[in-house]
Amino acid sequence: MKQVIRKNWAEPYRIKTVELLHMKTEAQRKKAIREAGYNTFLLKSEDVYIDLLTDSGTSAMSDRQWAGMMLGDEAYAGSRNFYHLEEVVRSTYGYKYLVPTHQGRGAENILSKILIKKGDIVPGNMYFTTTRLHQELAGGRFEDIIVKEAHDPNSEFPFKGNVDLDKLESLIKKHGAKKIAYVCIATSVNMAGGQPISMSNLKALRAMTKKHGIRIIHDMTRVAENAYFIQQREKGYAKKTIAEIVREICDLTDGATMSAKKDALVNIGGFLAVNDWDVFEEARNMVVVYEGLHTYGGLAGRDMEAMAIGIGESVNDDHIHARVGQVLYLGEQMLNYGIPIVKPIGGHGIFVDAKAFLPHIPQELFPAQTLAAEVYAESGVRTMERGVVSAGRKANGENYMPKLELVRFTIPRRVYTQAHMDVIAESTALVLDRRQKIKGMKMVYEPKYLRFFQARFERI
Ligand SMILES: *Cc1c(COP(=O)(O)O)cnc(C)c1O
Repeated sequence: MKQVIRKNWAEPYRIKTVELLHMKTEAQRKKAIREAGYNTFLLKSEDVYIDLLTDSGTSAMSDRQWAGMMLGDEAYAGSRNFYHLEEVVRSTYGYKYLVPTHQGRGAENILSKILIKKGDIVPGNMYFTTTRLHQELAGGRFEDIIVKEAHDPNSEFPFKGNVDLDKLESLIKKHGAKKIAYVCIATSVNMAGGQPISMSNLKALRAMTKKHGIRIIHDMTRVAENAYFIQQREKGYAKKTIAEIVREICDLTDGATMSAKKDALVNIGGFLAVNDWDVFEEARNMVVVYEGLHTYGGLAGRDMEAMAIGIGESVNDDHIHARVGQVLYLGEQMLNYGIPIVKPIGGHGIFVDAKAFLPHIPQELFPAQTLAAEVYAESGVRTMERGVVSAGRKANGENYMPKLELVRFTIPRRVYTQAHMDVIAESTALVLDRRQKIKGMKMVYEPKYLRFFQARFERI
């Protein structure tokens, strides 16, 4: 029988359990955000109505995953859930060796310590906060090799996650291949707005790195969402399944770090997976120091079981169609209201261009931080800053001044409904209506590492 391909993205599940939400009054919200130092990370979850802070660890698990939790084998060593997870990682992604970690950054820490020597260069398709920090702590220096379109919120280029191969070539020429620790490739680039890398770009990158004996390490946190865009946009992939495309991506790389809290539909978990026995051997030694024994890596057996099942669900075509479909729906609502967002609409959230939204506020006065606080005060919708605060400071103490000054509306997987999406778009439009009255902020407390999590602000 011929399979019917659904055009509509309607959810391929029904709801069995619900979590009740509460709405605070406007006065309560204003007080809450002031007390949080105008940092949405410091709000209490209780004070939030619709939580779009992150898609990390916020997904709804399926009944199958919850059933898997009951199958947890909590042995200290050799838990059967580890072997199940190992089998799923091998069959779905193709990587040979698995080291579980408590989440993505645990894997980044171990991998950076193994592969980066002091003074090494680590080119990547845009930075990610924890990834770059671990590279720097291991003595490396991140170099951005993403295409220039990625830094332009108005460019409609379909593969803004692509690598600029000329940039990489000149880095190799300048420093020599030996100084390149590896090339770090994120699929569905978070900081660029959830933008995909194309298969043809990845293939060309593979050819170039092979010639120079350089590894590609895959930040595969959102690989299934990237695969969806390849299926929709790249010639020759329309008839391939998400699972096939995911596998093809992974096969072009040498190893991966994974935050399973995103694509893989669990509340906690991650892993490091590699094809080289030597790297695996060292990682397996090191995980004992930082995470736990190599057959649990800081996770309970039940967490590994939920992850194994979640990975299977994450590469299902209907799932990913609905997942990205809901994000596209919200983006279209926002565009209808004239809200400036990063285009094309990405896979895991909507990124509002705060420079265009609040053009009268200079970047030094934190327009994205300000906008996130205003959206919360308007309606209880929690978003987060992805701009100058997130970018942090360089080794010499200067602020990084990123071109993109964004507010991220990240959509948790399988959690909110279409009516919630309407509320989010409407309330952002209300802030747009009164934007002239909004002023910037000053930072009054700045932590040393990953300052966006805990920094505090005051209104000017
Ligand atoms: C979340 C994330 C990480 C880090 O993973 P954690 O599980 O939060 O430690 C790394 N890379 C990308 C692209 C991410 O989105």
